[in-house]
Amino acid sequence: MREALDLLRDRPLVVLTGAGLSTDSGIPDYRGPGSPARMPMTYQEFVSGPDARQRYWARSHLGWGRMRRADPNAGHHALVRVHPDLLITQNVDGLHERAGSPRLVALHGRIADVICLGCRATSPRQALQQRLTELNPGFAERHAAVEVRPDGDVELDETAGFVVPDCRECGGILKPDVVFFGENVPAPRVERCYAAVDALAERGGALLVAGSSLTVMSGFRFVRRAAKAGTPVVIVNRGATRGDELATYTVDAGCSEFLGLLADQQTAPMPSR
Ligand SMILES: [Zn+2]
Repeated sequence: MREALDLLRDRPLVVLTGAGLSTDSGIPDYRGPGSPARMPMTYQEFVSGPDARQRYWARSHLGWGRMRRADPNAGHHALVRVHPDLLITQNVDGLHERAGSPRLVALHGRIADVICLGCRATSPRQALQQRLTELNPGFAERHAAVEVRPDGDVELDETAGFVVPDCRECGGILKPDVVFFGENVPAPRVERCYAAVDALAERGGALLVAGSSLTVMSGFRFVRRAAKAGTPVVIVNRGATRGDELATYTVDAGCSEFLGLLADQQTAPMPSR
């Protein structure tokens, strides 16, 4: 861990975070060690018909209430002090925003936003939550004890009868404004991240991955890009990751602990560019 911290000291940084960062906020990492193998709903399944959407929104209705109650943890707060050039997160929980991180790309969107697949209008998830509560009285109370996943989904099999509203404007299908499996990250988002990673090579910077197993290509590609340019990569994660062979250092530690140490040694303001 010492070598990794020394390498990162006073360098321009791009930080990529994943579900492992939010576990200390009580949001379980479904790919972490000891987690059961579970598949989130794919985009194709979501648009396949009303049954899938009923299942999705019923579960989300329960998961949302709990995700909303989660607070940023020491790792989120430390990253504000680390002050990276760009913070890229695969998490949709909005906790970096709540902690106050500027220069943030929510790669997979935010579970707090809803988009209409018909007119593309976006709206707050909280407004939809009120409609779901009105349309499904007592549902949340009857299922108060189920388990939450990082995407705000929950384990639940009895969703028959759950009423799913459509877009108020056009009657279109409402979808959380997050990138599902089987869906691409919007290109401008990806380009902004690539640009920040590419800039590290010219400025002697480093890429730090915190709390991601890099299973999905949407995040792993930035590690490949950095490594190809000769930019040092440090990966902090509980358990092995797909990027380990490309990393200068891998640290098997908790994110909160490592990021706290990193922030402490980086209290001097970064020189301006
Ligand atoms: Zn619409």
